[in-house]
Amino acid sequence: MKKKIPLIKELNNDEKPTIHLPEPLEDFLPEKILPKDLLRESLPIPQISEIEVVRHFTNLSHMGYGVDLGFYPLGSCTMKYNPKINEEIANNEYFTDLHPYTPEELSQGALEIIYKLGEALSKITGMDKFTFQPSAGAHGELTALLIIKAYLRNKGENRNIVLVPDSAHGTNPASASMAGFETIEIPSDERGLVNPNILGKYLNKNVAVLMLTNPNTLGLFEKDILKIAQMVHDEGALLYYDGANLNGIMGYARPGDMGFDAVHVNLHKTFSTPHGGGGPGAGPVGVKDFLKDYLPVPTVEYDGNKYYLNYQVPKTIGRVRTFYGNFLVMLKAYAYIRLLGDEGLKKTTEMAVLNANYLKEKLKAYFELPYPSICKHEFVLSGKNLKEKGIKVLDIAKRLLDYGVHPPTIYFPLIVEEALMIEPTETETKYTLDEFVEIIRNILKEVDENPDIVKNAPHNTPVKRLNEVYAAKVLKVNWK
Ligand SMILES: *Cc1c(COP(=O)(O)O)cnc(C)c1O
Repeated sequence: MKKKIPLIKELNNDEKPTIHLPEPLEDFLPEKILPKDLLRESLPIPQISEIEVVRHFTNLSHMGYGVDLGFYPLGSCTMKYNPKINEEIANNEYFTDLHPYTPEELSQGALEIIYKLGEALSKITGMDKFTFQPSAGAHGELTALLIIKAYLRNKGENRNIVLVPDSAHGTNPASASMAGFETIEIPSDERGLVNPNILGKYLNKNVAVLMLTNPNTLGLFEKDILKIAQMVHDEGALLYYDGANLNGIMGYARPGDMGFDAVHVNLHKTFSTPHGGGGPGAGPVGVKDFLKDYLPVPTVEYDGNKYYLNYQVPKTIGRVRTFYGNFLVMLKAYAYIRLLGDEGLKKTTEMAVLNANYLKEKLKAYFELPYPSICKHEFVLSGKNLKEKGIKVLDIAKRLLDYGVHPPTIYFPLIVEEALMIEPTETETKYTLDEFVEIIRNILKEVDENPDIVKNAPHNTPVKRLNEVYAAKVLKVNWK
C-alpha cells in the first residue's frame, strides 16, 4: 500500500528552513516596477525546502502511468513509444523560443518545416494541401466539416445530413453537430463493415458527407471503399476520412486513392507525440484540390525562393485557432517521418498489423472474437462469456492495473457487447505480447478461483476504483 501524498499546500510550514533569496535591488522592488493595483501584501505560496519540492513532484510522477513505464494497448489511441530524439529536437531553444509574431524572413526554417510536413502528409494520404491549425483530431473533423459545408453552400446546396457508421468514434457525430449538421447512423453488417447495400438506403440529396474511419474501429479494413466512394459521389455528397487509424495502413494505402475528399491525421497518435495527458496534439486537415480555396488562413506557401504566410485564400472559412497550430508537435512529426523514410513508415504499419494479429490469435482462446477476419492495427474482443461468472470487462481492466499494464479500451466500439479493444502497436516486442497473454490467463484463473480479487481490483495502485463520470459531470477545475 503506497503512502498518501499530501498537497503541496499541506506541506507548508513557516518555521521550516527554506531557501532565503536576497532582497531585490532598490530599482527592482515590486512597488517600483508594478502598478499599485497589482501589488499584494502577501502571496499564499507554500514555504517549503527545495528537497521537499523535489520529493513532492517526484512522488507524484510515480503515481502516473505511461508508455515509458509499460505496455499500453489502449485501442484506437495508438499509444506507441515516441522516440526520445524527437523530444530532443522539439526542445531545442531555437524552436521553443520562436515567437509566433517573428517576421517571416526570420522564421524561414519553421515555415519550411510546416510546408514540408504538408508535402509529406500529402504524399502519405494522397491529398493535395494541408492546414495545421486544428489542435487535435476532433478539431480537425470540425474544421473539415466547416470547409465542406462552405463548399456546398457556395454551390447553392443546403445538404444538412452527415452519415456515420455505428462503429464510429463519438467525436464524429459531435463534430457534425457542432458544424450544424444532423447525424444519421448507418448500421454495420455482419462483417463489421459498411455495406454498400445498406448505405444505399441512407443516401439521398440531403446527405452532405459520409465520415469513415478506415481501418474502422474494429480494426477492419472497409473492403468496399471504392464502391462506397462511387455511391457517395454519385449522390453529390463528399467523403471524409477520420485518420485516427492511419497507423494500420500508412505506406500501403492512401485515403486519397480510395476516394476520400478530406482527411484529418492525428499527429499525436501516428506521428510521435506522447499523449494521454490531454495534449498538446495536432489534427492537421488535408483536402483535395477542389476544397483548397476554403482552408483556414493563413496557409504556408513557397514561391521558389522563400516561404511565406498566405492570407489570400479566396473562400476561406477563417481561422480555427490562433496562429498556425501546435508547431512543436509538427516538428516531432516531421522528424519522425524523415527518420523513418518511406520504407520505415511501411515497416511501422507491417509490425503494427503483425503484432495485432499475433495477439488476436493468442487471445481468442479466452474471449469471444465477434469479427474473426484478419485485422489491421487493432482488434476487438467481447468479454460477454464472463457475465455468467459475474465478471465485467471493467473488472478485468481494473485487475490489469495491478499487473502493471494499462488496460485496453473497454465498452467501445458500442456495437460489441463487453468490448475489449486492443492495439498493441508496432513498438512492442513479442516478449511483451506473450507476457500480456500470460497476465490475461492469470486473471482468468483468478476469476475461477478467487473472483473477489478481480471484482475489487485494483489493489496495488495509488487510488482504487474511481467514479468515472463525476469529474465530467461536476465541473470543478481548481482546488479550493
Ligand atoms: C482519437 C480518435 C478521434 C479523436 O481524435 P482526438 O485527437 O482525440 O481529438 C477520432 N476518431 C477516432 C477513431 C479516434 O480514435
